[in-house]
Amino acid sequence: MDSIMFCVLCGGPFDLEDHIYRIGPQNPAYQWLYDVRVLGTFSALQSSRLAGVLEIPENSSNDDKVFLSAVTSWTEPDTVPFYLGNTMYEVLTDDEDGHLLFPLHSACIDIGCRMIKSKEDRRPLANFSSPLARLYHMLRLQFLHQKYFGGLIGNDLLGLQTDYAGYGPRSALAVDVLGWWGNSHEKFLTDPFNVGTLQWVFNVVRDTPPPRGTPSSIGAPDREPAALEKLPPELLDQILGYLHPWSVIDLHYTSRMLLHRIPLDESFWSTHLKDGTLLPHIWELEDIDLKTYERHRKKDHPTFRVQCEDLCKAFFNKDIPLCNRDHRFDEVPPGYWNRCRIWNIVQELCIASAEL
Ligand SMILES: [Zn+2]
Repeated sequence: MDSIMFCVLCGGPFDLEDHIYRIGPQNPAYQWLYDVRVLGTFSALQSSRLAGVLEIPENSSNDDKVFLSAVTSWTEPDTVPFYLGNTMYEVLTDDEDGHLLFPLHSACIDIGCRMIKSKEDRRPLANFSSPLARLYHMLRLQFLHQKYFGGLIGNDLLGLQTDYAGYGPRSALAVDVLGWWGNSHEKFLTDPFNVGTLQWVFNVVRDTPPPRGTPSSIGAPDREPAALEKLPPELLDQILGYLHPWSVIDLHYTSRMLLHRIPLDESFWSTHLKDGTLLPHIWELEDIDLKTYERHRKKDHPTFRVQCEDLCKAFFNKDIPLCNRDHRFDEVPPGYWNRCRIWNIVQELCIASAEL
């Protein structure tokens, strides 16, 4: 892969050349790669205009602080410029105020915004920027940092030409650089929105051993309540109402007393699985009747509640499919694998931006 033009979030191309990727460009699994948008600001739009009529492209963003183009495309014989309407723009080049335009896959923008939103849901920030504006802000910071302090060569802002912590290439860009061949390109280029019927999710849960302890098996606490444990139930409930579900789960496991005081029932698990707060990267769960999958559970999984809890624990760590050292995940679809990869890249971008 020798093109200088690629999506800086996933490392994937905007145009598939048969002779480079050895995969069929017409395959439906790869059509998402052609769905491209340009993300930036209106000032960057003005300063990056190379040629063409002076026209203000439609802004598809709901946030007037950031510009998001309508769907456009880019083909390999072109060089750096992108066309929006009849106007040609230079991308990935900062203006005197340090603003620029990023060409990105629509799917990567969507996954990035979902990731940022899920992070902010858990730890609300003291600002009201939209996830899209924050995504642009983080990419811009990373670009400027890499350009002026990191010796940026090319457009690889996020180290996508390197190994993922020793578990393989981080992107299709790295496949060639690291000398990985065979069919390695495929999973990096598969549509991250196509994850099938989710039967594979419940197969992973089916293959998960039952938990060692439940509140009933652990038994009653053997000491007097202390601190938070002494709060009356109605006050404790009120406090829990302000917490993110994962924080409620953390609190539940803090002590044997709280294990009993904060019962995580069926309703808790199924509500928060379906509202996307527990596993925001599997948003298809919103449309699924979880109860229909209850029949797939093993006999030694005692309840639907335990099944939901297992599901959350199994899929909370989005590194598992990437590392693929856990055989329960052998059958996950490549689209889900790719989704987790992009999700983790955005997560790393959030961490890197906080450190800049
Ligand atoms: Zn992408």
